[in-house]
Amino acid sequence: MSTAFDAIKNEEEQLLCRSYSRYPLAIVKGKGSRLWDVDGKEYIDLLAGIAVTALGHANDEVTAAISKQAATLTHVSNLFYQKAQLRLAKLLCSTAHFTKVFFCNSGAEANEACIKLARRYMRKVLHKDAYEIITLEGCFHGRTYGSLAATGRANLQDGFEPFPAGFMQVPAHDIAALRAAISDKTAAVMMEAVQGEGGIKPLDHAYLQQVQALCKEKNVLLIMDEVQAGLCRTGKFWAFQHAGICPDIISTAKSLANGLPMGAMLTTDTIAQGFVAGSHATTFGGGELVAATAATVIEIMLRDNLAQRAQSLGSYVKAEVQAIASRVPGQIKEVRGLGLMLGIELTAPGKAVWLELLRRGIICNLSHDVTLRLLPPLTIDKADLDTFLSTLEAVLRDNAALLLPAAK
Ligand SMILES: *Cc1c(COP(=O)(O)O)cnc(C)c1O
Repeated sequence: MSTAFDAIKNEEEQLLCRSYSRYPLAIVKGKGSRLWDVDGKEYIDLLAGIAVTALGHANDEVTAAISKQAATLTHVSNLFYQKAQLRLAKLLCSTAHFTKVFFCNSGAEANEACIKLARRYMRKVLHKDAYEIITLEGCFHGRTYGSLAATGRANLQDGFEPFPAGFMQVPAHDIAALRAAISDKTAAVMMEAVQGEGGIKPLDHAYLQQVQALCKEKNVLLIMDEVQAGLCRTGKFWAFQHAGICPDIISTAKSLANGLPMGAMLTTDTIAQGFVAGSHATTFGGGELVAATAATVIEIMLRDNLAQRAQSLGSYVKAEVQAIASRVPGQIKEVRGLGLMLGIELTAPGKAVWLELLRRGIICNLSHDVTLRLLPPLTIDKADLDTFLSTLEAVLRDNAALLLPAAK
């Protein structure tokens, strides 16, 4: 270990609250799909800041947009009309059936807005005392009290009780369980088309269509959390579009401003009646700097057809990983996901494999101990994916031959 890295690690342990377990890396620079650590070592980044820098690190056009807007106006608050918000709202609405947007700063806040709108729409527009939000086991919707109540994982909730009431969970792909859970008190059903933190688990399109039909039948809202899977990552602009459904409300964040904190809730004119002036607000949400940046990001995504790019590169990687699985048998259980949102589930705990990939200059995430999770920039060169594939094959061969050093 380098002294530069150790110095940073030690200082961090004294200065920051202990709430993260970090990778053994201090990153100082990025460009495209490459990152450099404090010792000058170069990495191929297949994580993109957890699905955030979809256009790559230090993207020239995004940097220019940030610089230009920063030099003009950064923030005035939502007391004022702001042109950048309109530019961004029009772009977002052009991607689907949505006609109304609310801006915020993160995925959790976007989900809070979804939950608050759903409840208030039921009370104030439909005059129905319905407030329950039904989510799926294995989901992840954020770390604020509402979004964490929706997430409902004992290990994340431990020590933080009590949580707000009115949240319940059902197993995924069990339409009967969802039907049984819906009552007069149900305001909305909320899910991710591809569970991200849950280990890259796509929901069947037929199931999503059944969920939509059930929501319509029972007059409850359908909320899709597109925070991770949205914005071209899965091969469509929004992940729900694979199933051909039309959710009432969606949340987005992660890639929205390519690394600046930014979230949004999208809905229709009808549902948006649930909010009136003063119902919900944020100081920073949709400020000029982030809104102008996000508008540039969406323009680039649409102009360069990054959904299509994610689709074709994703299919390529999936097929190649399947080929590796047959050449190096007994190592890979399955590869799943859509577009450039991929999970490679190993047959055994994968800490040693993940760490060896890191040592050989490949950054990815290890999810639930067994799944290598890939969320690369959508602009990544095919050559970088090929380097990953050949490195993965070599590492898995060494792992099969028990040649990898034991993971700490
Ligand atoms: C990351 C994530 C969130 C939370 O977003 P934050 O910006 O961390 O608050 C919510 N939902 C999904 C699906 C996510 O992947």
